[in-house]
Amino acid sequence: MKSGIHPNYKTVKVTCACGNEFETGSVKNEIRVETCSECHPFYTGRQKFAEAGGRVDRFNKKYGLKNNQ
Ligand SMILES: [Zn+2]
Repeated sequence: MKSGIHPNYKTVKVTCACGNEFETGSVKNEIRVETCSECHPFYTGRQKFAEAGGRVDRFNKKYGLKNNQ
């Protein structure tokens, strides 16, 4: 068998900007992402707060969240 046909596919740790870590398959040694399934609006159901204007503050106070825009 020839070697090198397939890249060195392996399990790597993915680190998200939100602090979540998970593993996936990749040829890279390390992956850093901005969003993951734990924090991406598509998965969490949260909308873009910045577009909600003043409603954001009320939302954050209601749920005790920090405004980290
Ligand atoms: Zn994340």
